[in-house]
Amino acid sequence: MTKQDITQISHYINGKKTSTVGAKSQAVFNPATGEVCAEVVLANKDEVNAAVAAASAVAPAWAETAPLKRARILSKFKELIEKNHDALAAAITREHGKVFSDAKGEVVRGLEIVEFACGIPQLLKTQFTDNIGGGIDNWQLRQPLGVTAGITPFNFPVMVPLWMAPMAIACGNTFILKPSERDPTPSLMMADLLYEAGLPDGVFNVVQGDKLAVDTLLQHPDVKAISFVGSTPIAEYIYTEGAKRKGAYPLRVQALGGAKNHLVVMPDADLDQAVDALIGAAYGSAGERCMAISVAVAVGSVADKLVDALIPRVHALKVKNGMESDAEMGPVVTSAHKEKIISYINQGVEAGAALLVDGRSKVVEGHEHGFFLGGSLFDHVTPEMTIYQDEIFGPVLCVVRVPDMAAAINLINAHEYGNGVALFTSDGNTAREFSRRIEVGMVGVNVPIPVPMAWHSFGGWKRSLFGDTHIYGEEGVRFYTRYKSIMQRWPESISKGAEFTMPVAK
Ligand code: NAD
Repeated sequence: MTKQDITQISHYINGKKTSTVGAKSQAVFNPATGEVCAEVVLANKDEVNAAVAAASAVAPAWAETAPLKRARILSKFKELIEKNHDALAAAITREHGKVFSDAKGEVVRGLEIVEFACGIPQLLKTQFTDNIGGGIDNWQLRQPLGVTAGITPFNFPVMVPLWMAPMAIACGNTFILKPSERDPTPSLMMADLLYEAGLPDGVFNVVQGDKLAVDTLLQHPDVKAISFVGSTPIAEYIYTEGAKRKGAYPLRVQALGGAKNHLVVMPDADLDQAVDALIGAAYGSAGERCMAISVAVAVGSVADKLVDALIPRVHALKVKNGMESDAEMGPVVTSAHKEKIISYINQGVEAGAALLVDGRSKVVEGHEHGFFLGGSLFDHVTPEMTIYQDEIFGPVLCVVRVPDMAAAINLINAHEYGNGVALFTSDGNTAREFSRRIEVGMVGVNVPIPVPMAWHSFGGWKRSLFGDTHIYGEEGVRFYTRYKSIMQRWPESISKGAEFTMPVAK
């Protein structure tokens, strides 16, 4: 392929694809082949400022658009996503590498937020108190913030932007998406569909870019709120920088970070079900999910049986190009990420963990240059090891052995991350106690990846979330609106004369 044949992935500003001639750009890879499949432009300050200007210009009119009209556009967008389901999923697989059926599932989970956002007239309905006293009524409003922005990670290039944009837009805000530079194509496809659905120019914009684009959004006084999803160091940076913004209307930030999710297997669990859950949740999407299970906590007598059952299953994983119909696991996203995962496996071996299945040298026939790894399985992992402490974000499962449930809870509560956790048991009281005592934001009982539905909200605890609100659901409505209380009376109810005492209900 010559340089001219390579697709250039541009920005989407004010309803049009735009990119500056001679702009800085970066290669986008197809992880299954290792080849460059596109070039993405990286925004300079002027391009980010142009997106903010476009979003600011249309913000008052969009805020005045009736919620039902906004909902109708989102409803049309939902239909268009359904119509383009395969195309979106294929674009995800091409640039991310996950298997096509998994990519289709990602689109569905994003679509659910669009469906939820279509109910915005009901969600924005507030409470009214008739006659609090003296002919006065009291009610509240939830008003849009203005220009909002979202910065998203590579691992869900459709779903995570859809956690944010439909909610922001439904609430009456305008939105600027800064997607991951590693798989940027779906962002433009979604912009095309939103405009085909009838969205006015400038309400949804995409700026491709890196740290410069993020910093420009963070510092721009017209950007009123930023939703971030990505790794913990960047989430903390965004949150801290956001808090420095001064003024009467400081930047509102919700920043979702990394994870280290445990799945606890109790001795009374159905072992086959627990093994199925671990295989899917640890190796699905090559472990590149923020809700992936990367630690199996084997309680008491279950450990040897669990490990014996896992070994053949990890060996049997079908690691292939994600477009092949029987693929279970595709490549990881870049060769640099593959090297990082291998370096973690090396560190685990050096630290003394038992590497029972070694996926480091996996080669997929016909895809020798792809960024593939096989599944890896460690036993006898201990809390001091880096492979336990750090988020590896690859197809590596660590087994930690503990004597009882109290030790399992202490282990998990001591970890810096608190995104998701799962417990496999057949005992109701164990499940109840675990759910109440565990310091993690999303808990699954016999459910390995408990990603909340669109009308519940998503978010972790501890260093997995910076900010007060979880993302989407009713928390999303709160994040993307400002609360205002209104009291009203009419001249007929007002008695003559100034009042100097604290007003109380009469
Ligand atoms: P990342 O933090 O490297 O990148 C996320 C976004 O931040 C991208 O848009 C990127 O361009 C931007 N960015 C990168 N470096 C930056 C910098 N120095 N300054 C400003 N912006 C910067 O994350 P990733 O590798 O794309 O995604 C994987 C991570 O995301 C994992 O840690 C995973 O757990 C996390 N994640 C979390 C959730 C969640 O809901 N908590 C969901 C998905 C992914």
